[in-house]
Amino acid sequence: VSRADGVDRVDVVVVGGGAIGLASAWRLAQRGLAVTVVDPAPGSGASGVAAGMLAPITEARPGEEDQLRLNLASWSRWPAFAAEVESALAALPPTAEAAGEGAGIGYRADGTLVAALDADDRAALDDLVARQRSLGLEITTLRGREARALEPGLAPGVRAGALAAGERSVDPAALVAALGRITGAAGVTTLASPVERVVLAGDAPGAPDVARVTGVALAGGETVDASMVVLAAGSWTGSITGLPDAARPPVRPVKGQILTLRQPPGEPLLTRTVRGLVRGSSVYLVPRRDGRIVVGATVEERGWDTRVTAGGAYELLRDVLALVPGLDDAELVAVRTGLRPGSPDDLPMIGVGAVDGLVVATGHFRNGILLTPVTADAVAAAVAGEPVPPEVEPCDPRRFSRTGVAAS
Ligand SMILES: Cc1cc2nc3c(=O)[nH]c(=O)nc-3n(C[C@H](O)[C@H](O)[C@H](O)COP(=O)(O)OP(=O)(O)OC[C@H]3O[C@@H](n4cnc5c(N)ncnc54)[C@H](O)[C@@H]3O)c2cc1C
Repeated sequence: VSRADGVDRVDVVVVGGGAIGLASAWRLAQRGLAVTVVDPAPGSGASGVAAGMLAPITEARPGEEDQLRLNLASWSRWPAFAAEVESALAALPPTAEAAGEGAGIGYRADGTLVAALDADDRAALDDLVARQRSLGLEITTLRGREARALEPGLAPGVRAGALAAGERSVDPAALVAALGRITGAAGVTTLASPVERVVLAGDAPGAPDVARVTGVALAGGETVDASMVVLAAGSWTGSITGLPDAARPPVRPVKGQILTLRQPPGEPLLTRTVRGLVRGSSVYLVPRRDGRIVVGATVEERGWDTRVTAGGAYELLRDVLALVPGLDDAELVAVRTGLRPGSPDDLPMIGVGAVDGLVVATGHFRNGILLTPVTADAVAAAVAGEPVPPEVEPCDPRRFSRTGVAAS
């Protein structure tokens, strides 16, 4: 076993360079730590595919109050986080791709409009608004006419709407690209390799019987030594070996198919995120400033299957064209699949793990982009031995070791 080339002293290895791993690495580097991110293809996971809604209000469900508090804690960090990322980016020399229109992270604070198409959808919308209000969230009901006045692209048949004016969005692919550049500028090293195994002090023959992380082993057999390891490999986190079962995060992939349209030339068909309740199913549209509109998403329990399917794409297109008929002539630019990292109770796992030196940051399921700022702050705190923000406490990764839920 040899040491990986080009890596000197490492305090922290971050396994996974999606939004969660990169933002965490950035916060750690800002604390003066020597950080290495290991990822065979940073940004290629769920973060590069996500829609980027920062939507704690329209995503809130009764019975998920811990999730709501966590989502709101991250949502309130987003304006400062976006400004900090954008100013760090602006301080770097422009690159060919990052120049001009593509610069920045596409952060927008335009709110979300929920639109109901038929009478049953309207009843579902009324229930949703009542639920959000019972949770103390700000959402305003609109008549169909008022919803269409805000978004003239909506179908004439839209019965009713609701506006969550506080919601925001970001372009996640641009965010991970930006984080990749600014972490590099902050001194973070990146190794393009898969991590195969977490290395424990107890691994060596004759070592004391106390499990403690000493680094990671790469697929090529080399090791990177570090006193702390942050596991942030999204859906793949559970496949990294070397840890006792009780310390292995029980994360599973939840497939999402998502489309990118480019709206026909002319006035923008949408000016803000729209979530549609469309004849009993639901769809969302997230406009980007360059004329693209992201349409999502299916939620499928299909293991590691990443195929785009006729049925998945059809459902999304059927609903989106019923809601915004003017998109009929939009260019269909891409149909993609991402794997959301799911956890057994849908709350992420963030904080110190069940082995000394291990910090976990995964299981963010549908809200990992929203949760990026609070997670990065919590990881930096956990690595430093400080308490995590109070809203992150219910996300203790050790809750599954205690109840005996093993990784699958
Ligand atoms: C269709 C879709 C729409 C979504 N929309 C939204 C949304 O609107 N808002 C929102 O907040 N969230 C959304 N999400 C959820 C969000 O994308 C995820 O929660 C978030 O991206 C998870 O980030 P991550 O960094 O943990 O994982 P990922 O982005 O998946 O990153 C994991 C990284 O680990 C790397 N990796 C894998 N194996 C190894 C290994 N062995 N060694 C080293 N590295 C490894 C991968 O290459 C990858 O780069 C959506 C997800 C999907 C799929």
